[in-house]
Amino acid sequence: MVEITRRRAIRAILFDKDGTLIDFQRSWGPVLQEASRFAAEGNEALARRLMMAGGMNPDTLITAADTIFAAGNTAEIADIFRAHGSILSREPLIADLDRLFVSAAERGVPVVPLRPLFEELSGAGYRLGLASSDSETAIRRLLVLEGVDDLVDFVAGYDSGHGVKPEPGMALGFSAALGLPTSAIAMVGDNRHDMRMGRAAQCGLCLAVLTGTGTVERLASESDAVLASIAELPVFFSERSI
Ligand SMILES: [Mg+2]
Repeated sequence: MVEITRRRAIRAILFDKDGTLIDFQRSWGPVLQEASRFAAEGNEALARRLMMAGGMNPDTLITAADTIFAAGNTAEIADIFRAHGSILSREPLIADLDRLFVSAAERGVPVVPLRPLFEELSGAGYRLGLASSDSETAIRRLLVLEGVDDLVDFVAGYDSGHGVKPEPGMALGFSAALGLPTSAIAMVGDNRHDMRMGRAAQCGLCLAVLTGTGTVERLASESDAVLASIAELPVFFSERSI
């Protein structure tokens, strides 16, 4: 249990995007299946082998932690497809997968409807920000699609000039933008890079959620608390639970 004083000191929440606001498995499962089928050129048996090679169960579309599908970039995914039987040429395959993944950003499935949650947290006095390894444009697009852009005070993508996770820059940028010490910030994310960024910036709390590819076993030692999802935040911060 997190000490009361540290919870009460929190004035702002910095969210990761994929796996935190966006449900990783429901959003990326169908996209990675489509990518595998594309690389297999419609050969379903090969497509299933490619899904397994990437780290995803072809029946459940659940991706395991720290696999190529969970953590790799497009080139690494193309390479593993080719190593396991795709006969497509490397560079065109990378370009086609990139196009598929960009279009997939529009299909992200939020963990919960974001507007009511953000309104509740904002109404309780918390300032809100986003820190993602995606581009700032993609983050802002999500905020508009979800109708929460007016409730978010800060956005940092990999291209916003704050550095990348697990460096502390995005959290320090949030702190500076709000004029709050990092001890007043709770970092919320689904993987170790998020927790390590929060620690590096000396955030007041580092909270892990299980809507990405991480597990309790992997995240408990890195975080102050592990929550099932962002839906638990209002109760976590409420005086009732304290
Ligand atoms: Mg994430």
